[in-house]
Amino acid sequence: MSITIDQSPSSSLSDLRAAVAGPVFTPDDPEFGAELAGFNVAVTPGASIVVGATSAADVAAAVRHARANGLRIGVRATGHGPVLEGGNQLTISTSRMTDITVDPIARTARVGAGVRWRDVAAATAPHGLTGLAGSSSSVGVVGYTLGGGLSPFGREFGYAADHVRSIEVVTADGIVRTLDATAGSDLFTALLGARDGLGIVTAIEFDLLPVATFYGGGIFFAGNAASDVLHAWRQWAPTLPEEAGTSIAILRLPPDPNLPPPLQGQLAVHVRYTHTGDPGVAESLLAPIRSAGPVLLENVGVHPAAALDAVHMDPPGPMPSVEQGVALGELTASAVDALLDAAGPDVASPLAIVEIRLLGGKLVAPQRVPNAVSGRDAAFTVLAIGVPAGPLGDQVEAHLSGVVDAVAPWSRGALLNLSGRRAHNRDELWPQAQREHLAEIRRRHDPAGVFSLTDPNNLG
Ligand SMILES: Cc1cc2nc3c(=O)[nH]c(=O)nc-3n(C[C@H](O)[C@H](O)[C@H](O)COP(=O)(O)OP(=O)(O)OC[C@H]3O[C@@H](n4cnc5c(N)ncnc54)[C@H](O)[C@@H]3O)c2cc1C
Repeated sequence: MSITIDQSPSSSLSDLRAAVAGPVFTPDDPEFGAELAGFNVAVTPGASIVVGATSAADVAAAVRHARANGLRIGVRATGHGPVLEGGNQLTISTSRMTDITVDPIARTARVGAGVRWRDVAAATAPHGLTGLAGSSSSVGVVGYTLGGGLSPFGREFGYAADHVRSIEVVTADGIVRTLDATAGSDLFTALLGARDGLGIVTAIEFDLLPVATFYGGGIFFAGNAASDVLHAWRQWAPTLPEEAGTSIAILRLPPDPNLPPPLQGQLAVHVRYTHTGDPGVAESLLAPIRSAGPVLLENVGVHPAAALDAVHMDPPGPMPSVEQGVALGELTASAVDALLDAAGPDVASPLAIVEIRLLGGKLVAPQRVPNAVSGRDAAFTVLAIGVPAGPLGDQVEAHLSGVVDAVAPWSRGALLNLSGRRAHNRDELWPQAQREHLAEIRRRHDPAGVFSLTDPNNLG
């Protein structure tokens, strides 16, 4: 695909307002802060202009305005991603782009850039279908899928990116293009997994899967059994078939009266489980882990696929958080001990969540569509999340690094979506040859670097 550099003369703010149907805000407008607010309130993202895009045409007009005025472009849907700070930018806010079209016969959905997984669930559940959502339905479909998209159902079906049929994107020349898996587009391949610095996606079309219900949920074990439960999980999890998914988390829960009483202010170990097959089989597969320690609470049973949030029970947000993650080639007994030394019950830690997810199954199978999803040869992924507030708030970064360093001997790459601030170091995400290829694709499609703001490595 050849790119024509837009050489249009600079345009004024009133030109931009006339060119887009959605609102345009500057820091002087009272709506400006709310437009940029999102899930993660740890950092307030900066911008000089925010365009509340309502369509691909609005996004294209915003990109052309930014190019003409030498502004770098950022994009924001829900604010679940790592927050990038930067000035002199035009941020495209996609939260108004909420169109969803479901084709139950073809088993596909086409969604706008502002759609969240909970909106997809509401539209697909009546047809007995589901998309490959992650642990929280408040996450945006586009940002999640472009980052790979690791679902609790991923071992059975692969990454969300593996199921994308087409992408509508505004490229650096301000043109709306539709890319699909069959046309051999390197932009399609790079967007799906490498996500940033390539364009603003305005819609995606993806496969829906025939999953109406699943057996699963979570079991909260007492924190003083952390060692027993983690070691038992390490041996049990890899024995599961592909239709089962599991993860485990050390949780430091706040004394929040909205939490169930047995969990308030507790350190707990949370085993999460999903199984899309026969509930009787699913229950018997889960049995060995149930006896790993004293159970505080559980919500295991048959749930609608649309109730996938019941598995991880992620915080509803907004909340301040910082995170770091890494993938592992194996989870040995020594790796579990190292993790417990860094974040177990004997450590005074500001980390709210330290989780390990089992990969494998279709997550390591060859890609169904060409894409750049990182971490495909990993067996587990580890993510640590801290809240930079409270008495230990200033130690969060040190503890996050402590977790990642502890498991470094077993590390193998990282998943873009689950690497947090470490995603800024792309060396860990892709092998060198692939990094160079991705950089070449970025240079070719965005020679002026207007999207460099969305590519953390290019932040200058
Ligand atoms: C509570 C929680 C649970 C999560 N669970 C999972 C999980 O189970 N599996 C998983 O894989 N990930 C998970 N994530 C990570 C999440 O998928 C990523 O942070 C994702 O980038 C969020 O996208 P967003 O649009 O919601 O957030 P935003 O912060 O709005 O966007 C994040 C980034 O996505 C990119 N982006 C967003 N929209 C566009 C667009 N239209 N065009 C181009 N780029 C765009 C940009 O780089 C942007 O900076 C979770 C995150 C949180 C906070």
